[in-house]
Amino acid sequence: MTTLLEMTPPTSGLAGSYINGEWHRPEDGRTLVIENPSRRTAICEIGRGGKTEIDRAVKAARAALPAWRALPASERGKLLSELGRRLEENAEDVARTLAAESGNAIKTQSRGEAMGASGVFKYYGGVAVEQKGETLPFGSGLFSYSVREPHGVVGSIIPWNSPLQLGAVKISMALATGNCIVLKPAEDAPLAVLKLAELADGLFPPGVFNVVTGTGEEAGAALVSHPDVNKVSFTGSSEVGKLIGHATAERFAKVTLELGGKSPTVVFPDAIEGDRLEHTAQHVVNAMRFARQGQSCTAGSRLFIHEEIWDRLMPRIIEKTSALKVGDALDPDADIGALVNSERYSEVRAFIAEAKAQGATFLLGDEPDDNPAGFTPSPVILSGLDNSWRIAREEVFGPVMVAIPFRNEEEVIQMANDTHYGLAAFIFTHDNSRITRLTRAIDAGWIQVNQGGGQIPGMSYGGTKQSGTGSEYSIEGALDAYTYRKSITIHVENAG
Ligand code: NAD
Repeated sequence: MTTLLEMTPPTSGLAGSYINGEWHRPEDGRTLVIENPSRRTAICEIGRGGKTEIDRAVKAARAALPAWRALPASERGKLLSELGRRLEENAEDVARTLAAESGNAIKTQSRGEAMGASGVFKYYGGVAVEQKGETLPFGSGLFSYSVREPHGVVGSIIPWNSPLQLGAVKISMALATGNCIVLKPAEDAPLAVLKLAELADGLFPPGVFNVVTGTGEEAGAALVSHPDVNKVSFTGSSEVGKLIGHATAERFAKVTLELGGKSPTVVFPDAIEGDRLEHTAQHVVNAMRFARQGQSCTAGSRLFIHEEIWDRLMPRIIEKTSALKVGDALDPDADIGALVNSERYSEVRAFIAEAKAQGATFLLGDEPDDNPAGFTPSPVILSGLDNSWRIAREEVFGPVMVAIPFRNEEEVIQMANDTHYGLAAFIFTHDNSRITRLTRAIDAGWIQVNQGGGQIPGMSYGGTKQSGTGSEYSIEGALDAYTYRKSITIHVENAG
């Protein structure tokens, strides 16, 4: 029998709010229970912050802003790099916490996420100095130039599916550019972020970096509508993204929205020629993010296979997916962990049940049990449906891939774009002309060709259509989204 890894909850949990460099319990004493979705057991309780804690955190951030924005960018960068170093040193501990609360398997996901988040801090620590302005040739006697100014206080809200990585992105982008931040982690997975805040304790000047744990309806809504928050950066569902868009429009607060996706994976015949079959099949599986239980915004969950190669490629995809071990996220050998909570589990189950009732063919898997010991459904691959089915249109956010054959390029471009989302896409072909045409024609913020990898710090990542607005992971994205360009024109006396 496998020995499951141990984890320790953060010591700050019962406080939950890190405000002005100190831990605070919610004024009203309320708490939230954080559960382990692999086992359906409680891990610990944390503080359930609300309007009062958000207001205190925003005030602390406002007070810290003048000194923080005046600090040289290189100094701000050094502190971010140091946080990256501390996280790397404690990566295993933080990764175990993350696995326990999120259900993301330690072997395939949580360790990688902890190290990836450390890499994000180090990246922004290094590029923080790259905040250049322009000079403008308005003629003799006029010296005109532009500088980048921070928006001010940033309110960031993140989901549970990769809280550490997304937390690192939000914190780094805001702080590198001279903003102060109030971060609200998701109520299902706040513990790894609290551990990160423990690692950051004493590093930044008080008030620069604040965390408030609580629910979306309470702490999240209070943060978004707070009149002194100048910018909101949100990653989560399109549904909540719309609410945030409305709330911020009221006062014209700046906003970045990283929302959902229903990304196409398109495979042409030449992608399995010669010895390419194994690579292509493996990367189709990777693109679907089965090892994240499909709980990834970039999951290539609509698979379009050219009809000529369906019979050769599909068995290899099924074989590789079936080889993934489903288990407890703290099982050191499990490749796939658990869906985050009972609500998500029931929704995924309902999607599958509906497709079954409509007559979909199960190439792999079946409808999950209705009362499992842990929320660990096995991967499902469906065919015998078309792009108009709900399961092919909506984001399932579970280990469910729909597979649809296509006849030609024109048809597959039409199907790939027949969605209200535009986040990611994966194309498998080695024909350069085709690559050029498809990468132009498909609506998506990020297209990968012949691979199904993850984001890399330095790339500008974000979606089009209803997948959001703004981009993250790069210094360009940070400058566009977290600063404004100020133009300064000086009339120079006796310029000659
Ligand atoms: P969600 O929208 O339910 O919750 C995300 C966050 O918003 C949580 O912290 C929650 O507490 C908060 N929230 C909820 N209601 C709120 C409200 N009324 N006001 C303010 N905040 C509120 O999303 P989720 O289910 O946690 O995450 C899954 C979604 O996130 C998926 O749609 C996925 O595609 C998306 N996602 C997108 C990206 C990306 O980069 N585009 C990355 C990861 C996840």
